[in-house]
Amino acid sequence: MKRILILMSDTGGGHRASAQALKAGFDELYPNRFAIEIVDFITDYMPWPFNQMPKAYPFLSNDAPWLWKLLYGGPNHRLSNTLAQIGSRLLVRSAHRVIDAHQPDLIISVHPLMQLVCMLAMARRPQRIPFVTVVTDLTTAHPLWFHREVNAVYVASENTRQMALKAGVDPARIHLLGLPIRPAFARSPRPKADLRAELGMALELPAVLLMGGGEGVGPVEEIAAACDASLSATGRPLGQIVVICGRNKALQERLTTRAWRTPARVNGFVDNMPDWMHACDCIVTKAGPGTIAEALICGLPIILSGFIPGQEEGNVPFVVENGVGVYEKSPAAIAAIVARWFGPEREHLREMSARARALGHPHATFDIVRSIVQLMKD
Ligand code: UDP
Repeated sequence: MKRILILMSDTGGGHRASAQALKAGFDELYPNRFAIEIVDFITDYMPWPFNQMPKAYPFLSNDAPWLWKLLYGGPNHRLSNTLAQIGSRLLVRSAHRVIDAHQPDLIISVHPLMQLVCMLAMARRPQRIPFVTVVTDLTTAHPLWFHREVNAVYVASENTRQMALKAGVDPARIHLLGLPIRPAFARSPRPKADLRAELGMALELPAVLLMGGGEGVGPVEEIAAACDASLSATGRPLGQIVVICGRNKALQERLTTRAWRTPARVNGFVDNMPDWMHACDCIVTKAGPGTIAEALICGLPIILSGFIPGQEEGNVPFVVENGVGVYEKSPAAIAAIVARWFGPEREHLREMSARARALGHPHATFDIVRSIVQLMKD
């Protein structure tokens, strides 16, 4: 059985989710053919203080976005590139340790900080292990994602393809196949009415889905309150509300005990995201790449209520310029848009939904897995 090592780190939820999606894709397409291990390289193999990065990430991205922007982007990414060049040289031993411990036949990286350090280690090993990068950012990606010596790079947009080319990756090694999304999103959905009945939703009313990523961050509560007001303003509900609070238990508790005027369902972390998305008609979310890619597959027009500076920034023009949604920060303005989409602008909502579906890549995970397996055969 061939061994595949997927290197990730829990800086944000997306890298682990992508790693798990790929593993599920391998298991579904090629049962019992590959032994796949997912490793948090930073936490489990790097020495202090590098191994503290995943703990610092939520604070940096949510509470000190200015500092995150400086560290991540700086002027032309110069600061982060310099830090990575120095850090990676100090960490080559960690790369040797993870390779020696897992003895992989192929390495998949789903994290921007894995390329440089692994390539430095690889140059000193007697045998080169095939190494591929699956970029988990949608449209803006840090330059550290791209290393010219990797065997393949999988990207989800023209913008990231161009970045790979600029980094000197051979065009034949760059594959634009979409983000690795859980295989459950590739299955045809059940009828909306069945899903709604099962999920305890009103059967007829159009539904808005409110989310803030896996951690339930951002002004989800304010947006929920504003939508509750706008959708009940005429005395007869114009729509219904679904909130997915993710791991934010405090938010879930506050919204569960709220006196709603509009029919509403409040959830904590859910494992059946495709069902909830297919049961709704539009989504309000921060610009997380995973949620956007999933919403497109499910044909949900998107209102982006915010973004993490740096890696999520480019997702805003991606959504707006492709005509699948809008960017709006004010909860009152968001609620007004939802009310218009469910009222006089229903046709516009339908058009955006069709464009979203056309832009989604429901089979991306399987396509990426097939391509990696082909590469192992060559
Ligand atoms: N998610 C989920 N259940 C929840 C909340 C979120 O499965 O209750 C998933 C969601 O479907 C998406 C991911 O968490 O795949 C969030 O990823 P995104 O890139 O949007 O944001 P992040 O949380 O990584 O910043």
